[in-house]
Amino acid sequence: MIAELQEVSKDYGEVQALRGVTLGIGAGELLGIVGPSGSGKSTMLNMIGTLDRPSGGTVRIAGHDVSQLNDRALSALRAQTIGFVFQQFHLAAGVPALDNVADGLLYSGPALRERRRRAADALERVGLGHRLDHRPHQLSGGEKQRVAIARAVVGGPSLLLADEPTGNLDSRSGAGVMDLLRELNDAGTTVVIITHDRDIAASLPRQVEMLDGKVIA
Ligand code: ADP
Repeated sequence: MIAELQEVSKDYGEVQALRGVTLGIGAGELLGIVGPSGSGKSTMLNMIGTLDRPSGGTVRIAGHDVSQLNDRALSALRAQTIGFVFQQFHLAAGVPALDNVADGLLYSGPALRERRRRAADALERVGLGHRLDHRPHQLSGGEKQRVAIARAVVGGPSLLLADEPTGNLDSRSGAGVMDLLRELNDAGTTVVIITHDRDIAASLPRQVEMLDGKVIA
């Protein structure tokens, strides 16, 4: 198991965003998380991504009980193990694709030259070897998401978490991004995708359905 949630709850004041979620994700899986808006999908992804700590229950990532790690150790685990992709891309404006991706290695700390070399490799892998110097505003939506995916995988994470990665894309670019996520999964990365797109969800080998802070299927 690369990720294990046991009876995980998360409260935001009065709101119970997660209410006793138990879920295991095996290494190498390609998994979709589906459910209506407000059902707790993003909160659960944040738990798996160790971006937030649970109010109750246990989260284990790559064998580590997250509650046993201090913030520093948790950041290190996250940097080594997990890559994130978001609907809104979250690229730095005015910064070339190469450096947007190279910044994904800032935490793990190789020198700038090496960071750029690995960033160029990652951009090559996502089919953007010819766009290294383009700024985000010079890229299409689909290309921006490819840059964001390159940044997420440049450090070689074993787990890639994507929150509505095709939500801002037309169907053709979205299909391209899904193909890329499948390729990364074929190459060994565990991939978890939140999607409200029924066709995308149906195309994934495993779906987890959420409702009112619980996994219902
Ligand atoms: P989904 O991703 O399925 O749309 P979320 O996980 O974003 O659902 O939200 C689950 C519930 O928790 C919602 O009722 C939402 O309003 C609430 N919630 C999420 N994040 C916060 C937060 N930071 N503060 C307060 N309430 C939150």
